[in-house]
Amino acid sequence: MNRKSMVLAGLVIALFSIAAGYVRCPEDIKIPVLLANGEVITKPCYVTVDGENVALVDDEKTAEKVMEQVKSEYKNESTVNVRIREKTDVENMDLKNGDRKPEVLTEHEAARQLVEDGSVTVETVEVVAEGKTLEYETVTTESEELQPGEKQIVQCGENGFLIETKRIVKENGNQVSEEVIDEQVIAEAVPEIVISGTYALSAPLSQMRITSGFGPRWGRMHNGVDLGMAAGSPVYAAKAGTVTHSGYSGGFGNLIKIDHGGGMETYYAHCSSLIAAEGMTVEKGQLIATVGSTGNSTGPHLHFEVRMAGEPCDPIQWIEE
Ligand SMILES: [Zn+2]
Repeated sequence: MNRKSMVLAGLVIALFSIAAGYVRCPEDIKIPVLLANGEVITKPCYVTVDGENVALVDDEKTAEKVMEQVKSEYKNESTVNVRIREKTDVENMDLKNGDRKPEVLTEHEAARQLVEDGSVTVETVEVVAEGKTLEYETVTTESEELQPGEKQIVQCGENGFLIETKRIVKENGNQVSEEVIDEQVIAEAVPEIVISGTYALSAPLSQMRITSGFGPRWGRMHNGVDLGMAAGSPVYAAKAGTVTHSGYSGGFGNLIKIDHGGGMETYYAHCSSLIAAEGMTVEKGQLIATVGSTGNSTGPHLHFEVRMAGEPCDPIQWIEE
């Protein structure tokens, strides 16, 4: 064999080798595989979660896209971050010529399967801003100028408004935590200011020891309360007003009556001495008499009455603690 024919033979062998498939392809090149049913597929690839095969797709590129697809299932316009908790990967499946066609899913099918069987935990972080009403408060001040139960609104309340920004963390679409990260007050609430009527009486004695209450007693009406106290103890005006009576008055004994205006009067009976004189203007808490047992009385005590338009009422309801 001469040199020319040797070169020619080498070339023929080389060409034959390529045609016979002896040349190695680099890893990233898809190698077509001929299946038993005559179909040709490329390189099927597993999607793995924590090392376990969970879905089989056509190729590596598709496998890589499955996780993006899974994440997008939980994304919305408020999502700022999304991650999968588990370690996910892709792993090529070895196929040989003549193998049976494996069960291969499309990218979408594989993603749906992972979402439905819950084999991955998709954590999303959403930032949501929402408007909130700031309810106004009601501030009530009491006034003796008004009748009890009567109300006067001196300033109308107005609700305010704020924008609250929340950071919400969800797992597979279920909220697991929520945190307010910003609050922007657009309008402050304006409080409602109300004046509420009260008669607010102060105690007529330094101690309130009720020995007999208001109401029916021994078949007749007890028009006031009896307050036990040693003779000579000071008696105070329960509310500011004008003394309309200061003198002896039958069963009341020594009696002081004070007119407080608005149809309200207070009576202080069985006193030992009378200090405030008729026609005098007295302040709330002013000394007006001393405790005694004059008139129809069995021992030293103060008989204290409150009358509204002449009608006796239980005074205890208006005495301040
Ligand atoms: Zn009495």
